[in-house]
Amino acid sequence: MQANLHQLIAKRIQSANSLIITAGAGMGVDSGLPDFRGKEGFWKNYIPFRDKFSFTECANPRFLEDHPNLFWGFYGHRLHLYRNTQPHKGFEILKSWSQNKKSFVLTSNVDGHFQKAGFNEQIIYEVHGSIHHMQCTSCKRIYSADGYNIIYDVSTFEAKDPLPNCKNCVNVVVRPNILMFGDYSFMSDRVEEQEDRYMQFQNDLTSQDKIVVLEFGAGESVATIRMMGEQLLQKYKHITFVRINPRDYNSPFGWRQQQNTDDKAFYALKQGALEAITQIQQYML
Ligand SMILES: [Zn+2]
Repeated sequence: MQANLHQLIAKRIQSANSLIITAGAGMGVDSGLPDFRGKEGFWKNYIPFRDKFSFTECANPRFLEDHPNLFWGFYGHRLHLYRNTQPHKGFEILKSWSQNKKSFVLTSNVDGHFQKAGFNEQIIYEVHGSIHHMQCTSCKRIYSADGYNIIYDVSTFEAKDPLPNCKNCVNVVVRPNILMFGDYSFMSDRVEEQEDRYMQFQNDLTSQDKIVVLEFGAGESVATIRMMGEQLLQKYKHITFVRINPRDYNSPFGWRQQQNTDDKAFYALKQGALEAITQIQQYML
């Protein structure tokens, strides 16, 4: 049964002329990245924070104010982790599927792994920003984090001084250009430019286009990415929406399997991203 479903999805991808990839934290898990799911998942990677801080407390601009060295220990570790990790093979396969199609990538991940896998920067919308960019709340600039190396104590997770300073300002500590919890100082300029390109991409799609949306590891706890995919399913005439998720694989609200037609369909694959991509690939002619 499951095998037939992969074959059917492969056919739909091949006959489509538009591919939209939407990705949540589950997409990075197969590359070996933590998904910060639940307290246990967080502490497993950040043992010095155990019993002291939760993930929502650390991924917070207040944490930078109250504990700047711990904040930069946490983000410095993640910056180097994402830099040093290779995106899993599934990215490469997805890139081959998107060749010669109108394509776009929506991701809530800040790891920059679609760019690293060779996807064009112009077709990526990073809804929560990117760890590979810094922002300075003083001079209001956003720029690349290339060249910033954060040294931290591996046993305490405290970053060593000096903390990353703004290139343009004197004695101003920068922060990652990432949307955090309770974040009123996030500078959205870069993300808004990406959003504009995505809106333009959507406007250019017509009722003639055959669209496939592949959603990977977008959990219900951060529903932004799921909602964006579900909106596309509502909006377009010829569209297949595939939700790939080992846990949160529910159909969109109110959607019933019987509604599936040649024109419009929803499928769920209860598995991880890399496994699903590899199995679909087997049916690609
Ligand atoms: Zn500055």
